[in-house]
Amino acid sequence: MSDNSLRIVWVYPDLLSTYGDQGNVLVVERRARQRGLDVARLDVRSDQPIPTSGDIYLIGGGEDRPQRLAAERLRRDRHLYQAVNNGAIVFAVCAGYQILGHEFVNDLGQREPGLGLLDVTTTRGEGERCVGDVLADIDPRLGLPQLTGFENHQGVTHLGPTARPLAQVRLGKGNGTGDGTEGAYNDTVFGTYMHGPVLARNPQIADLLLKLALDVNALPPTDDRWFEALRDERISAATQPA
Ligand code: GLN
Repeated sequence: MSDNSLRIVWVYPDLLSTYGDQGNVLVVERRARQRGLDVARLDVRSDQPIPTSGDIYLIGGGEDRPQRLAAERLRRDRHLYQAVNNGAIVFAVCAGYQILGHEFVNDLGQREPGLGLLDVTTTRGEGERCVGDVLADIDPRLGLPQLTGFENHQGVTHLGPTARPLAQVRLGKGNGTGDGTEGAYNDTVFGTYMHGPVLARNPQIADLLLKLALDVNALPPTDDRWFEALRDERISAATQPA
């Protein structure tokens, strides 16, 4: 590992990796290496300090209790704030997304403070749990193709004025507010409800994170036929009548 390595930090795999989220780490790592980058991957357990020198931080989904424990530890640790102030990229899924916001409802039914790194607030949905395939058109400003994923959450996430919706759903619930939005982002901090793992199903998002981290507009192309076939297969399975 050299000092110039791209540093990918996987936050709390012991608490927030219920849904195969390691796949997101593997995809970012592989796509960086395919572009000839030297990569340092740091898996940071919840009893360890979060490093502040990471370039990309990935946070996964989790069940309600581990989600509360992760939020408590990240608030206490404080290093993720510093990393974001230093310009780091954060990409979080589901429980991780909720933790990035101002607050969510924890496993004890109480309002739990989040990190406030995204201007979103999560309440407990009164309706059925949001479970199923998602197809969503990503914010055109990000210039990426349609997203595919799988959601599984009870929380409903409301966006404040400084958070942009990451996407608009064509299929699925996304943020669950009924306005069709899915996920949120602001500058270098991204949250989504899509599992999948989402970056394996949408590697263009992994490339977006790499471009932001490297501060470049384009990356050398990769052979994405396998990903495209998976995307087409998921889109046709999700849109087929039952
Ligand atoms: N516990 C949260 C919810 O149900 C997040 C679940 C998840 O990460 N899939 O809203």
